Amino acid sequence: MNVHESEKIAGTLVSLGYVATDDINFADVIVFNTCCIRDSAEKKIYAKIGDVKGLKRLNELLIVCVVGCMTQQTGMSDTLKSKFPFIDIVLGTSNVHLLGEKIKEISSFYLKNRKKIYEITDSSTEIVNDFYELRTSYPNAWVNIMYGCNNYCTYCIVPFVRGRERSRSPQSILDEVKRLLDEGYKEITLLGQNVNSYFSDNWNFAKLLDAIGALSFKFRLRFMTSHPKDFSSEIVDIMTAHKSICNFIHLPVQAGSNNVLKAMGRQYTREKYLDLISMIRNKIPDCGITSDIMVGFPTESDEDFFETLELVKAVRFTNAFTFVYSPRTGTVAQKMLQIPANIKKERITKLIELQNQISQEKSYEYLNKTYEILVEGVKDNDLACGKTSNGRLVNFKCGESKIGDFLNIHVDKVKASALWGHIENGRE
Ligand code: SAH
Ligand code: SF4
Repeated sequence: MNVHESEKIAGTLVSLGYVATDDINFADVIVFNTCCIRDSAEKKIYAKIGDVKGLKRLNELLIVCVVGCMTQQTGMSDTLKSKFPFIDIVLGTSNVHLLGEKIKEISSFYLKNRKKIYEITDSSTEIVNDFYELRTSYPNAWVNIMYGCNNYCTYCIVPFVRGRERSRSPQSILDEVKRLLDEGYKEITLLGQNVNSYFSDNWNFAKLLDAIGALSFKFRLRFMTSHPKDFSSEIVDIMTAHKSICNFIHLPVQAGSNNVLKAMGRQYTREKYLDLISMIRNKIPDCGITSDIMVGFPTESDEDFFETLELVKAVRFTNAFTFVYSPRTGTVAQKMLQIPANIKKERITKLIELQNQISQEKSYEYLNKTYEILVEGVKDNDLACGKTSNGRLVNFKCGESKIGDFLNIHVDKVKASALWGHIENGRE
Protein backbone atom coordinates (compact mmCIF):
# COMPACT_ATOMS: atom_id res chain seq x y z
CA MET A 1 0.00 0.00 0.00
CA ASN A 2 2.83 2.37 0.88
CA VAL A 3 4.64 1.48 -2.33
CA HIS A 4 1.57 2.52 -4.29
CA GLU A 5 1.32 5.76 -2.31
CA SER A 6 4.94 6.47 -3.16
CA GLU A 7 4.05 5.95 -6.84
CA LYS A 8 1.44 8.69 -6.47
CA ILE A 9 3.95 11.00 -4.76
CA ALA A 10 6.58 10.34 -7.44
CA GLY A 11 3.93 11.05 -10.12
CA THR A 12 3.12 14.39 -8.48
CA LEU A 13 6.81 15.39 -8.56
CA VAL A 14 7.25 14.29 -12.18
CA SER A 15 4.22 16.32 -13.23
CA LEU A 16 5.93 19.36 -11.66
CA GLY A 17 8.94 18.71 -13.89
CA TYR A 18 11.22 17.00 -11.37
CA VAL A 19 13.16 13.88 -12.34
CA ALA A 20 14.08 11.06 -9.97
CA THR A 21 17.67 10.79 -8.74
CA ASP A 22 19.41 7.85 -7.09
CA ASP A 23 21.77 10.21 -5.30
CA ILE A 24 20.13 12.10 -2.46
CA ASN A 25 22.94 14.70 -2.59
CA PHE A 26 21.55 15.97 -5.92
CA ALA A 27 17.92 16.17 -4.80
CA ASP A 28 15.97 19.45 -4.97
CA VAL A 29 12.99 17.92 -3.17
CA ILE A 30 13.00 15.04 -0.67
CA VAL A 31 9.70 13.47 0.36
CA PHE A 32 9.56 11.04 3.28
CA ASN A 33 6.54 8.75 2.96
CA THR A 34 6.23 7.51 6.53
CA CYS A 35 4.61 4.52 8.20
CA CYS A 36 3.88 4.17 11.90
CA ILE A 37 2.29 0.75 12.03
CA ARG A 38 5.19 -0.62 14.07
CA ASP A 39 7.69 1.10 16.31
CA SER A 40 10.61 -0.12 14.16
CA ALA A 41 9.27 1.69 11.05
CA GLU A 42 8.89 4.90 13.02
CA LYS A 43 12.42 4.75 14.49
CA LYS A 44 13.89 4.16 11.02
CA ILE A 45 12.16 7.21 9.58
CA TYR A 46 13.38 9.46 12.43
CA ALA A 47 16.94 8.42 11.65
CA LYS A 48 16.46 9.01 7.91
CA ILE A 49 14.93 12.48 8.41
CA GLY A 50 17.80 13.35 10.77
CA ASP A 51 20.30 12.44 8.04
CA VAL A 52 18.94 15.20 5.81
CA LYS A 53 19.87 18.02 8.19
CA GLY A 54 23.39 18.26 6.73
CA LEU A 55 22.06 18.40 3.15
CA LYS A 56 19.76 21.25 4.05
CA ARG A 57 22.75 23.16 5.43
CA LEU A 58 24.60 22.67 2.12
CA ASN A 59 21.58 23.54 -0.01
CA GLU A 60 19.16 25.96 1.61
CA LEU A 61 16.81 25.69 -1.37
CA LEU A 62 16.27 21.99 -0.77
CA ILE A 63 12.59 21.29 0.01
CA VAL A 64 12.05 18.61 2.65
CA CYS A 65 8.56 17.10 2.97
CA VAL A 66 7.10 14.54 5.35
CA VAL A 67 3.85 12.75 4.47
CA GLY A 68 2.23 9.42 5.33
CA CYS A 69 0.48 8.00 8.35
CA MET A 70 3.10 8.94 10.95
CA THR A 71 2.13 12.61 10.54
CA GLN A 72 -1.46 11.86 11.63
CA GLN A 73 -0.48 10.75 15.13
CA THR A 74 -1.60 13.03 17.93
CA GLY A 75 1.14 15.53 18.77
CA MET A 76 3.35 14.45 15.86
CA SER A 77 3.20 17.85 14.23
CA ASP A 78 4.83 19.43 17.31
CA THR A 79 7.35 16.60 17.61
CA LEU A 80 8.43 17.09 13.97
CA LYS A 81 8.64 20.87 14.43
CA SER A 82 10.89 20.63 17.45
CA LYS A 83 13.02 17.64 16.40
CA PHE A 84 13.47 18.61 12.75
CA PRO A 85 12.91 22.38 12.32
CA PHE A 86 14.37 22.18 8.80
CA ILE A 87 11.31 20.32 7.42
CA ASP A 88 9.40 22.56 4.97
CA ILE A 89 6.16 20.69 4.35
CA VAL A 90 4.18 18.22 6.48
CA LEU A 91 0.96 16.80 5.04
CA GLY A 92 -1.47 14.29 6.53
CA THR A 93 -2.85 11.21 4.79
CA SER A 94 -5.88 13.12 3.46
CA ASN A 95 -3.83 16.09 2.29
CA VAL A 96 -1.16 14.33 0.31
CA HIS A 97 -2.91 15.28 -2.96
CA LEU A 98 -1.94 18.88 -2.11
CA LEU A 99 1.75 18.06 -2.26
CA GLY A 100 2.33 19.48 -5.76
CA GLU A 101 0.52 22.71 -4.96
CA LYS A 102 2.46 23.16 -1.70
CA ILE A 103 5.83 22.51 -3.33
CA LYS A 104 5.00 25.09 -6.02
CA GLU A 105 3.91 27.54 -3.33
CA ILE A 106 7.12 27.16 -1.32
CA SER A 107 9.44 27.30 -4.29
CA SER A 108 7.80 30.47 -5.59
CA PHE A 109 9.00 32.43 -2.56
CA TYR A 110 12.46 33.81 -2.00
CA LEU A 111 14.16 31.91 0.79
CA LYS A 112 13.67 34.52 3.48
CA ASN A 113 9.92 34.63 2.82
CA ARG A 114 9.46 30.91 2.87
CA LYS A 115 7.04 29.71 5.52
CA LYS A 116 6.76 26.18 6.81
CA ILE A 117 3.57 24.39 5.77
CA TYR A 118 1.91 22.00 8.22
CA GLU A 119 -1.45 20.71 7.01
CA ILE A 120 -2.81 17.72 8.82
CA THR A 121 -6.57 17.41 8.87
CA ASP A 122 -8.89 14.69 10.04
CA SER A 123 -8.34 11.81 7.64
CA SER A 124 -11.83 10.45 7.89
CA THR A 125 -13.90 11.56 4.93
CA GLU A 126 -12.68 12.64 1.53
CA ILE A 127 -11.43 10.39 -1.27
CA VAL A 128 -9.07 12.05 -3.70
CA ASN A 129 -7.86 9.70 -6.35
CA ASP A 130 -7.00 11.92 -9.28
CA PHE A 131 -3.24 11.41 -9.07
CA TYR A 132 -0.85 10.99 -11.91
CA GLU A 133 1.03 7.89 -10.74
CA LEU A 134 4.60 7.06 -11.61
CA ARG A 135 4.06 3.32 -11.58
CA THR A 136 7.16 1.30 -10.81
CA SER A 137 5.86 -2.23 -10.56
CA TYR A 138 5.06 -3.29 -14.16
CA PRO A 139 3.62 -5.85 -14.98
CA ASN A 140 1.64 -5.30 -11.79
CA ALA A 141 -0.47 -2.23 -11.08
CA TRP A 142 -1.87 -1.50 -7.63
CA VAL A 143 -5.39 -0.07 -7.46
CA ASN A 144 -6.85 1.31 -4.23
CA ILE A 145 -10.49 0.34 -3.90
CA MET A 146 -10.95 1.72 -0.41
CA TYR A 147 -9.17 3.74 2.23
CA GLY A 148 -9.13 3.67 6.04
CA CYS A 149 -10.43 1.06 8.44
CA ASN A 150 -13.32 0.76 10.92
CA ASN A 151 -12.14 -2.27 12.82
CA TYR A 152 -10.06 -0.89 15.67
CA CYS A 153 -8.11 -4.07 16.37
CA THR A 154 -6.75 -3.23 19.81
CA TYR A 155 -3.07 -3.28 18.75
CA CYS A 156 -3.48 -1.25 15.56
CA ILE A 157 -2.94 2.42 14.83
CA VAL A 158 -4.34 2.37 11.28
CA PRO A 159 -7.90 3.54 12.09
CA PHE A 160 -6.43 6.48 14.05
CA VAL A 161 -4.09 7.62 11.30
CA ARG A 162 -5.98 6.62 8.16
CA GLY A 163 -9.50 7.44 9.26
CA ARG A 164 -12.85 5.73 8.68
CA GLU A 165 -13.46 3.30 5.84
CA ARG A 166 -14.28 4.97 2.51
CA SER A 167 -14.85 2.98 -0.68
CA ARG A 168 -14.27 4.35 -4.17
CA SER A 169 -17.16 4.13 -6.61
CA PRO A 170 -17.22 0.91 -8.66
CA GLN A 171 -17.26 2.95 -11.87
CA SER A 172 -14.06 4.84 -11.04
CA ILE A 173 -12.33 1.57 -10.12
CA LEU A 174 -13.49 -0.18 -13.31
CA ASP A 175 -12.39 2.79 -15.41
CA GLU A 176 -8.95 2.77 -13.81
CA VAL A 177 -8.53 -1.00 -14.21
CA LYS A 178 -9.61 -0.89 -17.89
CA ARG A 179 -7.21 1.96 -18.57
CA LEU A 180 -4.34 0.05 -16.95
CA LEU A 181 -5.12 -3.09 -18.94
CA ASP A 182 -5.32 -1.04 -22.14
CA GLU A 183 -1.90 0.38 -21.26
CA GLY A 184 -0.55 -3.18 -21.08
CA TYR A 185 -0.46 -4.00 -17.36
CA LYS A 186 -0.81 -7.75 -16.87
CA GLU A 187 -1.63 -7.99 -13.19
CA ILE A 188 -3.97 -5.84 -11.14
CA THR A 189 -3.86 -5.92 -7.34
CA LEU A 190 -6.86 -4.39 -5.57
CA LEU A 191 -5.84 -2.75 -2.32
CA GLY A 192 -7.57 -1.92 0.95
CA GLN A 193 -7.08 -2.52 4.67
CA ASN A 194 -10.08 -4.84 4.54
CA VAL A 195 -11.19 -5.31 0.94
CA ASN A 196 -14.01 -7.65 1.99
CA SER A 197 -15.91 -4.77 3.57
CA TYR A 198 -15.83 -2.75 0.32
CA PHE A 199 -19.23 -1.14 -0.23
CA SER A 200 -20.22 1.60 -2.64
CA ASP A 201 -23.29 2.34 -4.81
CA ASN A 202 -24.81 -0.92 -3.49
CA TRP A 203 -21.85 -2.93 -4.75
CA ASN A 204 -20.11 -5.24 -2.31
CA PHE A 205 -16.64 -6.69 -2.80
CA ALA A 206 -17.93 -9.87 -4.44
CA LYS A 207 -19.80 -7.85 -7.08
CA LEU A 208 -16.75 -5.67 -7.75
CA LEU A 209 -14.46 -8.69 -8.03
CA ASP A 210 -16.93 -10.36 -10.38
CA ALA A 211 -17.10 -7.30 -12.65
CA ILE A 212 -13.32 -6.85 -12.81
CA GLY A 213 -12.67 -10.58 -13.17
CA ALA A 214 -15.00 -10.66 -16.21
CA LEU A 215 -13.05 -8.01 -18.16
CA SER A 216 -11.98 -9.54 -21.45
CA PHE A 217 -8.23 -9.15 -21.25
CA LYS A 218 -5.51 -11.71 -20.60
CA PHE A 219 -4.52 -10.61 -17.11
CA ARG A 220 -4.25 -11.61 -13.46
CA LEU A 221 -6.32 -10.21 -10.63
CA ARG A 222 -5.22 -10.24 -6.99
CA PHE A 223 -6.57 -8.48 -3.92
CA MET A 224 -5.44 -7.73 -0.40
CA THR A 225 -6.00 -7.59 2.53
CA SER A 226 -8.88 -9.91 3.41
CA HIS A 227 -10.23 -9.96 6.96
CA PRO A 228 -11.39 -13.36 8.26
CA LYS A 229 -14.44 -11.82 9.92
CA ASP A 230 -15.77 -10.62 6.53
CA PHE A 231 -14.33 -13.18 4.12
CA SER A 232 -17.09 -15.31 2.57
CA SER A 233 -17.62 -18.34 0.37
CA GLU A 234 -19.27 -15.99 -2.15
CA ILE A 235 -15.82 -14.46 -2.79
CA VAL A 236 -14.27 -17.90 -3.30
CA ASP A 237 -17.07 -18.82 -5.75
CA ILE A 238 -16.28 -15.72 -7.79
CA MET A 239 -12.59 -16.59 -7.69
CA THR A 240 -13.39 -19.95 -9.25
CA ALA A 241 -15.69 -18.38 -11.86
CA HIS A 242 -12.99 -16.27 -13.54
CA LYS A 243 -9.71 -17.50 -14.97
CA SER A 244 -8.21 -14.07 -14.39
CA ILE A 245 -8.56 -14.23 -10.59
CA CYS A 246 -5.47 -15.79 -9.00
CA ASN A 247 -5.68 -18.79 -6.70
CA PHE A 248 -4.26 -16.76 -3.89
CA ILE A 249 -5.59 -15.27 -0.65
CA HIS A 250 -3.76 -13.24 1.97
CA LEU A 251 -5.78 -13.90 5.12
CA PRO A 252 -4.09 -12.55 8.26
CA VAL A 253 -4.87 -14.69 11.30
CA GLN A 254 -2.70 -12.71 13.78
CA ALA A 255 -2.95 -15.36 16.53
CA GLY A 256 -4.07 -18.94 17.04
CA SER A 257 -5.62 -18.64 20.48
CA ASN A 258 -9.18 -17.53 21.12
CA ASN A 259 -8.10 -15.61 24.24
CA VAL A 260 -5.67 -13.51 22.25
CA LEU A 261 -7.98 -13.09 19.25
CA LYS A 262 -10.65 -11.80 21.63
CA ALA A 263 -8.25 -9.40 23.35
CA MET A 264 -7.13 -8.19 19.92
CA GLY A 265 -10.77 -7.48 18.97
CA ARG A 266 -10.46 -9.51 15.77
CA GLN A 267 -14.10 -10.72 15.87
CA TYR A 268 -13.46 -14.31 14.78
CA THR A 269 -12.36 -17.45 16.56
CA ARG A 270 -9.65 -19.98 15.81
CA GLU A 271 -12.40 -22.41 14.78
CA LYS A 272 -14.01 -19.95 12.38
CA TYR A 273 -10.58 -19.27 10.81
CA LEU A 274 -9.89 -22.99 10.37
CA ASP A 275 -13.36 -23.45 8.85
CA LEU A 276 -12.59 -20.70 6.34
CA ILE A 277 -9.35 -22.45 5.38
CA SER A 278 -11.21 -25.76 4.84
CA MET A 279 -13.89 -24.01 2.78
CA ILE A 280 -11.22 -22.33 0.59
CA ARG A 281 -9.28 -25.57 0.11
CA ASN A 282 -12.42 -27.53 -0.72
CA LYS A 283 -13.29 -25.10 -3.48
CA ILE A 284 -9.72 -24.27 -4.63
CA PRO A 285 -7.42 -27.14 -3.61
CA ASP A 286 -4.19 -25.47 -4.79
CA CYS A 287 -5.01 -22.04 -3.38
CA GLY A 288 -1.96 -20.20 -2.05
CA ILE A 289 -2.78 -18.89 1.41
CA THR A 290 -0.52 -16.44 3.23
CA SER A 291 -0.98 -14.72 6.55
CA ASP A 292 0.18 -12.09 9.02
CA ILE A 293 1.01 -13.50 12.45
CA MET A 294 1.95 -11.53 15.53
CA VAL A 295 3.68 -12.70 18.70
CA GLY A 296 3.98 -11.00 22.07
CA PHE A 297 0.57 -9.36 22.20
CA PRO A 298 -0.18 -8.42 25.85
CA THR A 299 -1.88 -11.36 27.64
CA GLU A 300 -0.31 -13.93 25.27
CA SER A 301 0.64 -16.84 27.54
CA ASP A 302 2.87 -19.80 26.67
CA GLU A 303 -0.30 -21.82 25.99
CA ASP A 304 -1.69 -19.11 23.74
CA PHE A 305 1.55 -19.03 21.77
CA PHE A 306 1.52 -22.84 21.57
CA GLU A 307 -1.92 -22.58 19.97
CA THR A 308 -0.53 -20.18 17.36
CA LEU A 309 2.17 -22.72 16.50
CA GLU A 310 -0.44 -25.48 16.31
CA LEU A 311 -2.59 -23.40 13.98
CA VAL A 312 0.40 -22.71 11.73
CA LYS A 313 1.07 -26.47 11.61
CA ALA A 314 -2.57 -27.20 10.82
CA VAL A 315 -2.98 -24.60 8.07
CA ARG A 316 0.47 -24.85 6.48
CA PHE A 317 0.57 -21.35 4.97
CA THR A 318 2.48 -20.84 1.73
CA ASN A 319 4.22 -18.01 3.54
CA ALA A 320 3.62 -15.75 6.53
CA PHE A 321 4.65 -12.24 7.51
CA THR A 322 5.63 -12.52 11.14
CA PHE A 323 5.65 -9.58 13.53
CA VAL A 324 6.65 -8.85 17.09
CA TYR A 325 3.89 -6.83 18.73
CA SER A 326 4.91 -3.24 19.41
CA PRO A 327 2.77 -0.88 21.51
CA ARG A 328 1.23 2.02 19.54
CA THR A 329 0.19 5.25 21.22
CA GLY A 330 -3.54 5.66 21.68
CA THR A 331 -4.45 2.00 21.12
CA VAL A 332 -6.20 -0.14 23.74
CA ALA A 333 -3.38 -2.70 23.90
CA GLN A 334 -0.79 -0.05 24.68
CA LYS A 335 -2.34 0.31 28.15
CA MET A 336 -2.27 -3.44 28.84
CA LEU A 337 0.48 -5.28 30.72
CA GLN A 338 3.30 -5.83 28.21
CA ILE A 339 5.24 -9.05 27.59
CA PRO A 340 9.02 -8.91 28.23
CA ALA A 341 11.20 -8.45 25.14
CA ASN A 342 13.16 -11.69 25.68
CA ILE A 343 9.96 -13.75 25.60
CA LYS A 344 8.80 -12.01 22.43
CA LYS A 345 12.17 -12.75 20.86
CA GLU A 346 12.03 -16.44 21.77
CA ARG A 347 8.53 -16.72 20.34
CA ILE A 348 9.25 -14.96 17.06
CA THR A 349 12.33 -17.15 16.53
CA LYS A 350 10.27 -20.33 17.05
CA LEU A 351 7.49 -19.08 14.79
CA ILE A 352 9.85 -18.12 11.97
CA GLU A 353 11.66 -21.46 12.20
CA LEU A 354 8.38 -23.35 11.95
CA GLN A 355 7.05 -21.31 9.03
CA ASN A 356 10.38 -21.59 7.15
CA GLN A 357 10.29 -25.34 7.53
CA ILE A 358 6.71 -25.47 6.22
CA SER A 359 7.49 -23.11 3.30
CA GLN A 360 10.44 -25.32 2.39
CA GLU A 361 8.40 -28.53 2.58
CA LYS A 362 5.64 -26.97 0.49
CA SER A 363 8.17 -26.07 -2.21
CA TYR A 364 8.51 -29.77 -3.03
CA GLU A 365 4.80 -29.90 -3.92
CA TYR A 366 5.70 -27.84 -7.03
CA LEU A 367 8.44 -30.18 -8.21
CA ASN A 368 8.00 -31.80 -11.66
CA LYS A 369 4.86 -29.83 -12.43
CA THR A 370 4.20 -27.11 -15.01
CA TYR A 371 2.78 -23.72 -14.08
CA GLU A 372 1.78 -20.61 -15.93
CA ILE A 373 4.11 -17.83 -14.82
CA LEU A 374 3.89 -14.10 -15.32
CA VAL A 375 7.44 -12.87 -15.87
CA GLU A 376 8.16 -10.15 -13.30
CA GLY A 377 11.92 -9.76 -13.41
CA VAL A 378 14.70 -10.35 -15.93
CA LYS A 379 18.37 -10.07 -15.02
CA ASP A 380 21.35 -9.43 -17.32
CA ASN A 381 22.74 -12.88 -16.78
CA ASP A 382 19.88 -14.66 -18.55
CA LEU A 383 17.86 -15.25 -15.40
CA ALA A 384 14.21 -14.42 -14.99
CA CYS A 385 11.61 -14.90 -12.32
CA GLY A 386 7.87 -14.81 -12.09
CA LYS A 387 5.00 -16.01 -9.94
CA THR A 388 2.55 -18.82 -10.22
CA SER A 389 -1.10 -17.88 -9.90
CA ASN A 390 -0.95 -19.14 -6.31
CA GLY A 391 1.88 -16.80 -5.46
CA ARG A 392 5.12 -18.84 -5.58
CA LEU A 393 8.17 -17.29 -7.19
CA VAL A 394 9.93 -19.43 -9.80
CA ASN A 395 13.39 -18.73 -11.29
CA PHE A 396 14.34 -19.85 -14.79
CA LYS A 397 16.62 -19.13 -17.74
CA CYS A 398 14.82 -16.41 -19.60
CA GLY A 399 15.91 -16.91 -23.22
CA GLU A 400 13.85 -14.47 -25.30
CA SER A 401 11.26 -13.81 -22.63
CA LYS A 402 10.58 -10.38 -21.26
CA ILE A 403 8.81 -8.85 -18.28
CA GLY A 404 5.04 -9.13 -18.72
CA ASP A 405 5.09 -12.39 -20.73
CA PHE A 406 2.97 -15.33 -19.67
CA LEU A 407 5.03 -18.54 -19.92
CA ASN A 408 4.63 -22.17 -19.01
CA ILE A 409 7.44 -23.16 -16.68
CA HIS A 410 8.24 -26.70 -15.64
CA VAL A 411 9.65 -26.75 -12.10
CA ASP A 412 12.58 -29.14 -11.93
CA LYS A 413 14.58 -28.10 -8.88
CA VAL A 414 14.11 -26.87 -5.31
CA LYS A 415 17.16 -25.04 -3.89
CA ALA A 416 16.79 -24.00 -0.23
CA SER A 417 13.09 -23.16 -0.58
CA ALA A 418 13.42 -21.40 -3.95
CA LEU A 419 11.89 -22.98 -7.07
CA TRP A 420 13.83 -23.34 -10.33
CA GLY A 421 12.48 -24.44 -13.69
CA HIS A 422 12.67 -24.17 -17.46
CA ILE A 423 10.40 -22.78 -20.17
CA GLU A 424 8.04 -25.38 -21.60
CA ASN A 425 6.09 -25.00 -24.86
CA GLY A 426 7.57 -21.54 -25.42
CA ARG A 427 5.52 -18.40 -25.20
CA GLU A 428 1.73 -18.24 -25.12
N1 SAH B 1 -5.62 -4.57 7.60
C1 SAH B 1 -4.77 -5.65 7.68
C2 SAH B 1 -3.45 -5.37 8.32
C3 SAH B 1 -2.73 -4.11 8.07
S1 SAH B 1 -1.33 -3.87 9.06
C4 SAH B 1 -5.43 -6.76 8.51
O1 SAH B 1 -6.33 -6.54 9.28
O2 SAH B 1 -4.96 -7.86 8.43
C5 SAH B 1 -0.27 -5.19 8.56
C6 SAH B 1 0.12 -6.09 9.69
O3 SAH B 1 0.93 -5.39 10.62
C7 SAH B 1 -1.03 -6.61 10.52
O4 SAH B 1 -1.67 -7.69 9.94
C8 SAH B 1 -0.36 -6.98 11.81
O5 SAH B 1 0.07 -8.33 11.79
C9 SAH B 1 0.85 -6.05 11.86
N2 SAH B 1 0.68 -5.05 12.93
C10 SAH B 1 -0.27 -4.11 13.03
N3 SAH B 1 -0.11 -3.42 14.18
C11 SAH B 1 0.97 -3.93 14.81
C12 SAH B 1 1.63 -3.66 16.03
N4 SAH B 1 1.21 -2.73 16.86
N5 SAH B 1 2.73 -4.40 16.35
C13 SAH B 1 3.18 -5.37 15.51
N6 SAH B 1 2.57 -5.68 14.36
C14 SAH B 1 1.48 -4.99 14.00
FE1 SF4 C 1 -5.51 -2.55 11.68
FE2 SF4 C 1 -7.37 -4.36 12.26
FE3 SF4 C 1 -7.92 -2.39 10.55
FE4 SF4 C 1 -6.23 -4.31 9.83
S1 SF4 C 1 -8.41 -4.57 10.30
S2 SF4 C 1 -5.95 -2.14 9.56
S3 SF4 C 1 -5.20 -4.77 11.73
S4 SF4 C 1 -7.50 -2.18 12.71
